[in-house]
This record gives sequence, C-alpha cells and structure tokens, in this order.
Amino acid sequence: MVCPYCRSPKTQVVDKRDTSDSTIIRRRRECLNCHKRFTTYERLESIGLKVIKRSGRTEDFDRTKLREGIIKAVKKRPITQAQIDEVIDDIELKLLNRKTTEVKTVDIGKMVLTRLKKIDPLGYLLFSAVYNEFASIDELADEIARIRAEQK
Ligand SMILES: [Zn+2]
Repeated sequence: MVCPYCRSPKTQVVDKRDTSDSTIIRRRRECLNCHKRFTTYERLESIGLKVIKRSGRTEDFDRTKLREGIIKAVKKRPITQAQIDEVIDDIELKLLNRKTTEVKTVDIGKMVLTRLKKIDPLGYLLFSAVYNEFASIDELADEIARIRAEQK
C-alpha cells in the first residue's frame, strides 16, 4: 500500500470498518512519512495473511474460524460476542501492521489469551486448555493459583 500523497510505502492501519458488502473491508490508513490519512477498500481475499499450523501447513487467515474457536471455548462464560469481536479486531490490526504476512497458530493463540485474560480469567483458562498451552495439570494449577493471587 503506497501513500497517495507522498508515495511512501510506509503506511499503518489505524481503523477498520466493515462495509455493507461483507467481502469489502474499508480501512483507514496513516502514512508514517507525511502523516496524512486515507481510506482504502480492500477485498477480503486480499488480506493476504497466512497462518502456519502446527503441522507446518499454511492456510489463509480465517476470521470466522478464529471467532468460532473462541466462542466454543468460552461459551459458558459471561463474555459477549461484541467483546470477542473486539479481541479479533485488535489482533487483526496487530497482524496487519507487522512486516511479515505469516503468523503461527500458536502466536494467534497467545494473542487471544493475553486479551481474554483481561476480560475473564476463567474464560482465559478454558481457551488455554483448548489450545493446549499447558504441558501438565500442575502447570494449569499453577496458573489458576497465579490468577487467584492477582484477584485478591
Ligand atoms: Zn505520505
């Protein structure tokens, strides 16, 4: 993406809005050189983020899939759909502003965890268990103890 004002290739995504046509995403970008802001409309296919799975296989970043994964893990918790969408929006922005277009599944998992921890500690643990972040029951117990201590 090149700045339309000064042609600098260094731009940053500052906001993302879905348009009524769900295959087109409207993004506000800021040029890091001249600091002017402009809007781009990008087709969903062109997000270009690749996810590297544990098996080493790569696939396109799928927002819906990530969303379903989180919902499944935290469904009994008082976390709203809006909160989940916010978490994903935030992660997407982070990923889009990185130099690389590839991201490991485990890294996305970690990004979700950091954000869930702030919203709901138990939801965070449930998601953790799904993503096999804990090597053993002892490790899980330690984490629970740590959260309890933080909440006092
Ligand atoms: Zn510029």
